[in-house]
Amino acid sequence: MKAQTLLIHPPRGATATRAVTSPIWQSTSFEADSIAAFAEISQTVQPPEYYTRYGNPGHQQVEALLAELEGGEAALMTASGMAAIFTAVVSGLKQGDHVLAQRNVYASAATLFQKILPRWGIECSQLPQTVDFTEGLRPNTKLIYVETPANPVMGLTDLRAVARVAKERGITTMADNTFATPINQRPLGLGIDVVVHSATKYLSGHHDVMAGAIVGPREFIDRAWHFHLVAGGVLSPFDSWLLLRGLRTLELRVQRHNRNALALARYLKTHPAVARVNYPFLESHPQHALARAQMSGGTGMLSLELHGGREAAERFVSATRLGRYAASLGGFTTLLVHPAAMWAESLTGEQRAAMDVSDSLVRISTGLEDEEDLLADFAQALDSIT
Ligand code: PLP
Repeated sequence: MKAQTLLIHPPRGATATRAVTSPIWQSTSFEADSIAAFAEISQTVQPPEYYTRYGNPGHQQVEALLAELEGGEAALMTASGMAAIFTAVVSGLKQGDHVLAQRNVYASAATLFQKILPRWGIECSQLPQTVDFTEGLRPNTKLIYVETPANPVMGLTDLRAVARVAKERGITTMADNTFATPINQRPLGLGIDVVVHSATKYLSGHHDVMAGAIVGPREFIDRAWHFHLVAGGVLSPFDSWLLLRGLRTLELRVQRHNRNALALARYLKTHPAVARVNYPFLESHPQHALARAQMSGGTGMLSLELHGGREAAERFVSATRLGRYAASLGGFTTLLVHPAAMWAESLTGEQRAAMDVSDSLVRISTGLEDEEDLLADFAQALDSIT
C-alpha cells in the first residue's frame, strides 16, 4: 500500500475495536484473567495490555503504523524526540565504546554526545556531515549517528555511503529522520539500521503533542524497550491518540509543506534583500544531486541569509505576519527561528561559524498556509527591510 492509504488503514493491532476512529486507552492498568496469565504477560516485550509504562494498545497502533511507514520490523514510542534519541543511543552502548556522530546534530543530541556519554566512559567524536565517515572510525566504534537534512543550512548526509561504511565493519547506524519524515525519505531502505524521530514535529503536525519514536530491527527495539522501561519516558495515551490522529493526514500535509517550501525558496532567491537560500530541492543547493537521489521531496524546512546582518534578521522576523517566532517545526503554521540567538548560550562564536550559523540566518518551517498568501507576506516583510 502507498503511504496515504496505510495512514488511513493502519495495521489494526491485537486490540482492534469496531470504532471507526481509534479509542483512547486512558488506563494505567489492564486486568489479567488469572495469576498465570498475569505472570506470562509481565514477561512479554511491549505487552499492549498490562501496565502503560510497558505498553498500551494506543502505543501499539502507532508503533505498528510507523514501523510499516519506515519499512522497519518494529517501533517504540516515547514521550519526546529526545527520549527516543537517548533511549536508542544509550541502550546499545557500554563503557569503552565509541560513537561517531555528525557535527550538526540537534542541540540536545549534541549535548548527549559531548557532555553526558563521555562522563560514563563512552567516547564520542563528531565530523562534518559531508565527509566520508571512515576517517573518524576507531576500533571501538559501535554507532554512527546522523541527521539529514539538518540545521541550519539544510545540509545532507549521504545515507547509502554511511550504511556501506558501517555494514562492512558491523557498526550500527542511526538516522534522525525528523525533518524529512518517511514521506520524503526512508533511511532503512537505504541501508541505515535504526531511525529516530521527534514525533512532536511533522508526524503529529499540529503543535500540540510531544512524542518520539524509534524504528528498527526487532532485536534492537526489544533492547531499547527494556531500557525504556527503566528510563520511564512513556508517551501518555492521550498524546498517542493525538499523534495517530495527526498521522492520518501526514502525507497530505507533507506534500503541501514540500510545495510551499519550494515555492518560497524559489521566490526568496529572487529578492534583493536575500543573500542566500538553503533548500535541498533548489538546484543551487550544493548537495542537490544527493537530495534527489535519497529524498522524494524537499521538506518544509529551509533557511535564508539576509544582507544586513542581525539587524536585518530582526526586522524581517518582526515584519512577517504569517511566520510566527517560536521554537519547533513541522506543524500547520509557519514558524521562524534565529539560530544564532537561539544557540548564543550553548555554542561559541567559533562553533556557530563552523556550523554556518551567521547572524543574518533565519530558519523557516513552512506551514500549510495558502502558497500565494505566504509568498505575499514574505514579499512585504522583505520589501520592508530593503
Ligand atoms: N531531532 C530534531 C531534528 C529536532 O529538531 C528535535 C527538536 O527540535 C529533536 C530531535 C528533539 O525532539 P523533542 O523536542 O520532541 O524532544
